[in-house]
Amino acid sequence: MGVKRVGILGAGVVGLNTALQLQSEFPTLDVTIIAEKFNQETTSDGAAGLFRPSSSFSGPNIEITKKWILDSYRFYDALRITGQGEDSGIFQIPAYNFSNYNEGMVKNHLLETVVPVYRAMSEDELEEYPGWKWGSFYKTLIIECREYQPWAIEKITQSGGKFRQRKVNTFSDVEDFDAVINCTGLGAKYLCNDSKLTPIRGQVIKVRAPWVKASYMSDFDTYIIPNRNTITLGGCRNYGSYDLNVCPFTKADIMQRCSAVLPSLAKAEFVRDWVGLRPHRDPVRVEAEMIALPSGKNLPVVHNYGHGGYGVTSSPGTSMHAVQLFKEQHAASISSIASKL
Ligand SMILES: Cc1cc2nc3c(=O)[nH]c(=O)nc-3n(C[C@H](O)[C@H](O)[C@H](O)COP(=O)(O)OP(=O)(O)OC[C@H]3O[C@@H](n4cnc5c(N)ncnc54)[C@H](O)[C@@H]3O)c2cc1C
Repeated sequence: MGVKRVGILGAGVVGLNTALQLQSEFPTLDVTIIAEKFNQETTSDGAAGLFRPSSSFSGPNIEITKKWILDSYRFYDALRITGQGEDSGIFQIPAYNFSNYNEGMVKNHLLETVVPVYRAMSEDELEEYPGWKWGSFYKTLIIECREYQPWAIEKITQSGGKFRQRKVNTFSDVEDFDAVINCTGLGAKYLCNDSKLTPIRGQVIKVRAPWVKASYMSDFDTYIIPNRNTITLGGCRNYGSYDLNVCPFTKADIMQRCSAVLPSLAKAEFVRDWVGLRPHRDPVRVEAEMIALPSGKNLPVVHNYGHGGYGVTSSPGTSMHAVQLFKEQHAASISSIASKL
């Protein structure tokens, strides 16, 4: 029997990008997204959406990691260039990175060759931002998930995709599908019993400050990232923490650090606080597996999870890779799907 019905587990940015890639390669496949949470209930929704992997972001090797980032940038930028940026929450911005401690902090080997501009700031430019020893300037994208996720859901629906709201406790719960792609983020820790997956807690403040038109990052995880109607101020990285409460001390610290970078933020209007858990895994897991279920069925699964603080940035690329693994897993029946196109 060939593969006809595919279940994608997870409706965060990774699951949605996987569905978009799968449908674009195989328009006749019957695709269903199964997820406990959607849109504003997901981690992806609160992410600032800056297209910027950290230098430490890693796939299985450097070639694959670089390919994920390049494929992702091209995917988002193509949407922007073809006039779909307005509806999907994608736009280009100028960005600055500053550091007083380490010149390496303002370099980024994964981004430098991908974005249209990435260069060290000159001494004259740095004079405009007094107090910083090193700086870099680049142009990158914002992918605002509060707009991107509903846009993607609409696209997937228009292409015949279906959605099912439920928690998946074991892979037996989805054995009615011919194949499954697992994009459950931190949920994979339990679903796959994966001890390599760890939360890295982040806290941000969303403010209104329409005069801020560029993104700024600096030491101690300080960032100011414009979205369409708000600015995201951050941040922190609490390794291994599951605490989803807003910490008032962290909030005050973020406000102080961001205002030191851009003093005009003292006049910003508060909108909301947000805390999220980055699904960190080193390396990100994009792997095929055949899972033997208690019923006796062998379920072909491709995993696509563990993107940490860079899932918005990297998920189109990891999704293309996951679809390639899906193709290899189903090589025999894929030729019959392709022949029906
Ligand atoms: C403060 C902060 C700022 C960030 N800023 C950026 C940024 O600027 N740029 C960037 O690239 N990234 C950023 N990130 C990281 C980004 O948010 C994550 O990498 C990304 O959201 C991960 O997406 P995901 O789809 O894997 O997870 P999620 O968005 O968490 O989605 C997981 C999905 O799986 C479902 N699920 C899980 N378990 C189950 C189960 N058992 N059964 C059914 N469904 C299940 C959930 O319901 C959900 O639908 C930031 C993160 C934080 C916390």
